[in-house]
Amino acid sequence: MEPQAREIAPEDVVLDAFVAIVDLREGSRPSGEIPGSTLIDRLDLDGIERLIPHPDSPILLYCGIGEASRIAAKSLAGRGFTGVVSLLGGFRRWRAGDHPISPVGEPTPDRYDRHVRLAGFGPERQDRLRSSRVLVVGAGGLGSPVIQYLAAAGVGTIGIVDGDRVDATNLHRQVLFGEDAIGMSKVDAAVAAVADMNHSVAVDAVARWFDADNAAVLIDGCDLVVDASDNFATRLAVNDAAAALGVPFVHGAAIRWEGMVAAFNPRVGPCYRCLFPDLPESEATCRDVGVLGPVTGVIGSLMAVEAIKHIVGSPDRMLDRLITYDARSTRFSSVRIKRRDTCPIGHVVGSR
Ligand SMILES: [Zn+2]
Repeated sequence: MEPQAREIAPEDVVLDAFVAIVDLREGSRPSGEIPGSTLIDRLDLDGIERLIPHPDSPILLYCGIGEASRIAAKSLAGRGFTGVVSLLGGFRRWRAGDHPISPVGEPTPDRYDRHVRLAGFGPERQDRLRSSRVLVVGAGGLGSPVIQYLAAAGVGTIGIVDGDRVDATNLHRQVLFGEDAIGMSKVDAAVAAVADMNHSVAVDAVARWFDADNAAVLIDGCDLVVDASDNFATRLAVNDAAAALGVPFVHGAAIRWEGMVAAFNPRVGPCYRCLFPDLPESEATCRDVGVLGPVTGVIGSLMAVEAIKHIVGSPDRMLDRLITYDARSTRFSSVRIKRRDTCPIGHVVGSR
């Protein structure tokens, strides 16, 4: 009788039950891997066999969609390995089901030494960065330093959402991109830039505009959102989805000679709508009135600092505060943001 491949659905997988987990995917794996995976060429059955201590040892094989792993599992069953199972639907179905995912690749030794030796930081907080997932909305003037610093700092998975392409007028402030990137999708250029900076960071790139329709899907499962967008509609979409899902977010904006940073946990504290209850119908844009390039660098860097403090659970992370920066007078100011009773977001009463 011809051997059959055994298959298992992602929801039935208990990772600890497997002696080895084998990733048969080809090419780069920017969206990460199942924790504990060993990467082996799908045609290298001898390589897989070497990972199997006994013919009945439980081994999980997976690929992109579940086809290559099913064929390999069938071949191994034919060689007498009865414990080999193939993951139904592959990594695509695994990822869609919100199962654990690790970033691909080990960090370069000593890479985070200056974080680890920092008082109040240490290896435990560096590990928190590595296991975190942050969504950055907008890969522009603010998103550039945010993405650069989060990638350099070793945030495990960075989601980047932006529907735009790189334009020559972006380059004086969007320092993630060089002249070679003109015409490219911003998220594609960002993926390439992050890969150059830190190979152990996984990037989930979404080449679309963030809006109220996709907000919940994109934010769900993130530890933090960084709102580096450039318009009110997107900011409100971030705010409302973050409030609904209970995900904190760091917000920033920059235009002309000035910028601002704020941080919210809108389920329990004030939100962006509490800060700006009466948004104007139209808004000034950098396209119309310009922006000094490094102002976006100052604001984006402050956002990255606060993002890292939030991810590692720093007790003095900024929350419910608005920082403003005026580059002409070189002045910073800080004010407390209060929750408004009339806010349409249903803030949890009595929490703060
Ligand atoms: Zn509010």
